[in-house]
Amino acid sequence: MSETTVDVAHADAGRTAELAQRLSAVRQRILDAAQQRSEDRGHGGELPALVVVTKFFPAEDVLRLRNLGVRAVGENRDQEAGPKAAEVAEVLASQDPPVSPPAWHFVGQLQSNKAKHVVRYASWVHSVDRLSLVTALGKAVRAHRQAVAEDTAVPGPCATEDLTCLVQVDLDPEATPGSSRGGAHPDDVAELARAVAAAEGLRLGGVMAVAPRDADPAEAFEKLWEISQRLRKEHPEARVVSAGMSGDLEAAVAAGATHVRIGSDVLGPRPAVR
Ligand SMILES: *Cc1c(COP(=O)(O)O)cnc(C)c1O
Repeated sequence: MSETTVDVAHADAGRTAELAQRLSAVRQRILDAAQQRSEDRGHGGELPALVVVTKFFPAEDVLRLRNLGVRAVGENRDQEAGPKAAEVAEVLASQDPPVSPPAWHFVGQLQSNKAKHVVRYASWVHSVDRLSLVTALGKAVRAHRQAVAEDTAVPGPCATEDLTCLVQVDLDPEATPGSSRGGAHPDDVAELARAVAAAEGLRLGGVMAVAPRDADPAEAFEKLWEISQRLRKEHPEARVVSAGMSGDLEAAVAAGATHVRIGSDVLGPRPAVR
């Protein structure tokens, strides 16, 4: 048994209880918000999926969340996510019976040269914002598969399944430089989506956005919904709308989000700067 397993087994029960309580409050908010959705945003009654963003928090918290039934976690920096994913996988595999790891969703800005690292553990990338990144991710998935076939890499999720890519949209492209939340200009979404759909090893999931600062999130997410609807005319299967964080979950679900990315309301406050 590794030390981490012992840690979790003898977990400081307080932290687990705190996470359980916060998680159930967030799940209740998702349920309530989903019940308020209008018919056309209801996705046939399917509940929005919860991606718990665990950045800044240790592997032990991811293990606790996994034991509480969380199936998807989000990270925004490869340096942090890579080792964390490896640690979590090792501990879960050593449990009796083994527990399947959570799906890792990469939600942060991604440099193309990090693509080959990210595809070792991630099954989703929410932050595809330029053509060069599409190229790098496709190449990285194919190289990973080659390495797995040659037995020189531990298979990650994309060894057998295409990497799900979301086109991140900048909902306030006129914002002053520095205040942008990232993403592609709305006019560039169609071209990026076509590139993802055409790349071997990638699957076009849909769109993602972060609400602009100092803006009404309901209005912003309405814009994202319209962009998603346009995209689906060309790619009917690209139905994912990843929107909503701790502060604007309700607005996102009302506007048709299929996935919400919640960090601090599940894990607690994190340092503002790193
Ligand atoms: C950190 C982060 C989140 C979660 O934010 P909270 O406000 O803590 O819920 C969601 N999406 C992205 C892209 C993030 O970087």
